[in-house]
Amino acid sequence: SAGRIVVVGGGFGGAACARALKRAQANLQVILIEPNAVFTSCPFSNEVVAGLRDIHAQQFDYDRLAAEGIIVIGEAVTTIEPQQRSVMTADGVALPYDRLVLSPGIDFNFEALPGYDGTTSEKMPHGWKAGPQTLLLRRQLEAMDDGGTVAIAIPANPSRCPPAPYERASLIAHYLKTKKPRSKVLILDAKDNFSQQRLFEQAWKELYGDMIERVGLSQGGRVTSVDPSTRTIVTEFGNYTPDVANVIPPQRAGHIAEVAGAADATGWCPIDPVTFESKLVPNIHVIGDACLGGGIPKSASAASAQGKACAATIVNLLAGRAPETPRLNGVCYNTVAPGYGFSLAGNYQPKGDIFAEVEGGATSPVDAPRETRAREATEAERWFRTITADTFG
Ligand code: FAD
Repeated sequence: SAGRIVVVGGGFGGAACARALKRAQANLQVILIEPNAVFTSCPFSNEVVAGLRDIHAQQFDYDRLAAEGIIVIGEAVTTIEPQQRSVMTADGVALPYDRLVLSPGIDFNFEALPGYDGTTSEKMPHGWKAGPQTLLLRRQLEAMDDGGTVAIAIPANPSRCPPAPYERASLIAHYLKTKKPRSKVLILDAKDNFSQQRLFEQAWKELYGDMIERVGLSQGGRVTSVDPSTRTIVTEFGNYTPDVANVIPPQRAGHIAEVAGAADATGWCPIDPVTFESKLVPNIHVIGDACLGGGIPKSASAASAQGKACAATIVNLLAGRAPETPRLNGVCYNTVAPGYGFSLAGNYQPKGDIFAEVEGGATSPVDAPRETRAREATEAERWFRTITADTFG
């Protein structure tokens, strides 16, 4: 073959990259390594939490990728030897590569949240990797009595999908308003300002009255520790013992990036944004949530765009051609109730060591009529169908 590319992680970044590599150059050997036979999508998982959608609508397998000639290996990568240019999977098989692409998504930074460890999420679900956690949070909401409090603890940036916690608060409020109207949503936030804040706050006032209360950083909303045995969330302001505690811990790049030596002290992976090559380890490219992207939000849209641009770069590098400067676009939809959505679209280009936003972006107007919100909710569903078909279908 013309070269062997190993891609670690079959999520939005990795699957898009593997597919684009194989389509661009059929004689490349493309190996995608992903432990889960079925991928569960985070986008639209807040609808599952709110009882508006079945989890099966979130799930995709790798049959189509395999049919296109991508070698799909259902294992986790456990070690990476950059000097030997080889990865090893959990079953002990070593696979050599010419170039390695890492798209492992996120892991949680336990050190940054005292009291939180590997088992805390069984009591205080994060729901920040979709699957069993999404369903656990759903069951806890169903089991809660009317009049209860659901707390959502939100970390500082950088983190996966900055607006998604507020979308989740909105859709949980929708569920409570419909089924348990005396209940409350309490947001404990390590930030003062957040993405699309005016649009969210206006929608909350319009749809949910005072059902959603938010305590921001300046009011002491940052969570400093948790105690899962008593379901206590400790903040700078005081202690809370909500009926449902959705604690989203601080994050970092998926652990395998650290194993590879590609993560720095921030926990994320510095890259050359023109080629996605790691600044720390040769012949390794990092895409998606795991990379230090700067102005580009950590989203499925961005991961997919990066996956495709990275594939184009690798094809050029293997052929001895200069890489082209990528121009990425990302769009992020938020649905705050059925038939009520808004969006943020952005374009990004390399600037120094990161991506910076360039002209051409757009955000939904704050004063748009309800028809616009309804249209954007429909567009959000179309976006989901398109990106999942593009990645897995
Ligand atoms: P992932 O998609 O998480 O894929 C990583 C893959 O790597 C996983 O399948 C994992 O199993 C695999 N992996 C990890 N370690 C290893 C290993 N050692 N060996 C092999 N495989 C490994 N984005 C949007 O654009 N729009 C949205 O509306 C949106 N909504 C969201 C809602 C929520 C509630 C959340 C939490 C996120 C949302 N996102 C949204 C963000 C989006 O889910 C992520 O940005 C996106 O999944 C990142 O893609 P990725 O490839 O970096 O990681």
